[in-house]
Amino acid sequence: MAGAAEAAPAARGGIGIGVRVVLLGPPNAGKGTQAVMLRERLGVPCISTGDMLRRESESGTPLGLRVKGIMDSGELVDDATMAEVVHERLRQPDAAHGFVLDGYPRTLAQAETLEEILAAAGQRLDAVLLVKVPEEELVRRALARGRSDDREEVVRERLRVYREKTEPLIGYYRGLGLLREVVGDRPVEEVGRALLAALEGSAAEVTQS
Ligand code: AMP
Repeated sequence: MAGAAEAAPAARGGIGIGVRVVLLGPPNAGKGTQAVMLRERLGVPCISTGDMLRRESESGTPLGLRVKGIMDSGELVDDATMAEVVHERLRQPDAAHGFVLDGYPRTLAQAETLEEILAAAGQRLDAVLLVKVPEEELVRRALARGRSDDREEVVRERLRVYREKTEPLIGYYRGLGLLREVVGDRPVEEVGRALLAALEGSAAEVTQS
């Protein structure tokens, strides 16, 4: 049993515990910020594969050294490596009662791996929240933020990779009836409210079925 203190935030938020959510959207759509907000409201951990890989690369582990160049170039780390990283993380006790995934899956193969991992644990996703932001706004945000890997060509490359590898997930999750779309090009608080409302809708559907 999870401690009462852990369960409390979810109860206050009005959405049951055990919420398994994927945040989908292009780089710089604001997923990281919203993932933290959802973590607080839902009382489940936020799992950001980008943050996990950055920590690895800063601490110079073998994995970190291997992926650093890939991340700096705007390309994707291979699916097999990501499967290991995510499988290991989802096995941790804090993820047993739900999670918000930020930055995973990013390819159809990763989406299938995620389903397999969850199915093996008798679990499945409750919703996939798509944060939509126009491309020029994404580039503007990235350059304004000015992280070292945010040179314009890398920013454009990340977007190209998103369109090619990750956008197909939109149709995939729509087909599974899991997709909820939210406009992300507006104030952070509004986006957050829209995401929570989209999740409440999912929760209501689950209760009714
Ligand atoms: P993010 O902070 O989510 O934008 O991730 C930063 C970088 O980490 C990406 O540009 C990729 O190189 C790598 N990365 C993060 N998540 C994944 C993933 N699910 N699959 C492959 N590469 C990833």
